[in-house]
Amino acid sequence: MATHVLDVIRTKRDGGELSDEQVRFFIEGYTAGTIADEQAAALCMAILLRDMAPGELATWTQAMIDSGERLDLSGVGRPTVDKHSTGGVGDKVSLPLAPLVAACGAAVPQLSGRGLGHTGGTLDKLEAIPGWRANLSTDEVVDQLREVGAVICAASETLCPADRKLYALRDVTATVEAIPLIASSIMSKKIAEGTASLVLDVKIGSGAFLPELDRARRLAETMVGLGRAEGVKTVALITDMESPLGRAVGNGLEVTEAVEVLRGRGPADLVEVTLALAREMVSLAGLAGSGPTAGGSATDPAAALADGRAFAVWEAMIRAQGGDPGAPLPVAPIRHTVPAPANGYLRRLDARSVGEAVWRLGAGRARKEHPVSPSAGAVCLRKRGDQVTAGEPILELHVDDGSHIPGALAALEGAIAVGPEPPDPRPLIVERIS
Ligand code: URA
Repeated sequence: MATHVLDVIRTKRDGGELSDEQVRFFIEGYTAGTIADEQAAALCMAILLRDMAPGELATWTQAMIDSGERLDLSGVGRPTVDKHSTGGVGDKVSLPLAPLVAACGAAVPQLSGRGLGHTGGTLDKLEAIPGWRANLSTDEVVDQLREVGAVICAASETLCPADRKLYALRDVTATVEAIPLIASSIMSKKIAEGTASLVLDVKIGSGAFLPELDRARRLAETMVGLGRAEGVKTVALITDMESPLGRAVGNGLEVTEAVEVLRGRGPADLVEVTLALAREMVSLAGLAGSGPTAGGSATDPAAALADGRAFAVWEAMIRAQGGDPGAPLPVAPIRHTVPAPANGYLRRLDARSVGEAVWRLGAGRARKEHPVSPSAGAVCLRKRGDQVTAGEPILELHVDDGSHIPGALAALEGAIAVGPEPPDPRPLIVERIS
């Protein structure tokens, strides 16, 4: 009997499990345009409410991968390993991480997206560098991986077209939050990109996509399971995003801070997360025996940061895509500081509010066709746990157009709290899931 879209929707609406045939029928039909948006929206809502069984989700993910091209990276001559972050505020880790892991001997194919909402996009950050180009052909990606070892570029339109349509639909139907839909969306793109192994950075805390630990853990476990089922070695770290990572938030400011990390400096929290992810990647790539690497060797990320090898790969990676790694980055003409409200310890510097403020300063976009400012952003002059005196600057806002400042300050209402006692420490690396 022929499969009918209404039966697919009804099966899920009533809590049943979709057959492989039903899943493939739906993904193929929706990608081809023979299944309407309203029918796809109904199915996404039914999935959000009813969940998916592991086998059903594996078929769904495979069908999304099969909706487009799958890159073949077998010719790059090094083990391939990538990282995906669920996104956060000041999360510029991909920028130092890709060249760092390449400096340890792996090839890192980072096919990335642009920012939407309060978290920034890796491509938007790199586009602050004069001349840098995000769009590469598949041949250029493979050549750059072979020659430089790292590439960060835009995913082509032919990679997971089913996800492009579904993600846009979920965005306007309140169905983004369904864990099986998030997991399949992320993993289908990463698997189609052709990487042999993958490290996931799943954020928790106010600036994260899923702030609560139990939901983040479920997402991480689901993604690790999907990676395994597809033969991609996958590990997840759950990391904290209650406060911005590092000090810089905003496109060009984050590039400058990433370069600090690559020069062996950089804020301690950013360096800690970068090194933790790098060790997992080097280990998964099989370059350092089993488990995270010990110090001292050619494949030790800390050594590659300290001796300048990672920085050299960064320069080569930026040049290979037309950028000038030595060019000055755009600087915002207007600065506005936000003071500490009292004497004491900085107990809260809320990531989501800072992300929202920076978005309102012009660093982010409301719609995907909007431009972003390369220079707008914020610098956290003080970090959670620091001792502060009333009136001293905590945040420095950078903006091209002063009319954006009141909106940013409104977003920061309640974001900063100072008290007489230091806050309880929050571990940065919360859990590892493999
Ligand atoms: N990022 C993705 O790529 N997909 C989602 O569904 C959520 C975050």
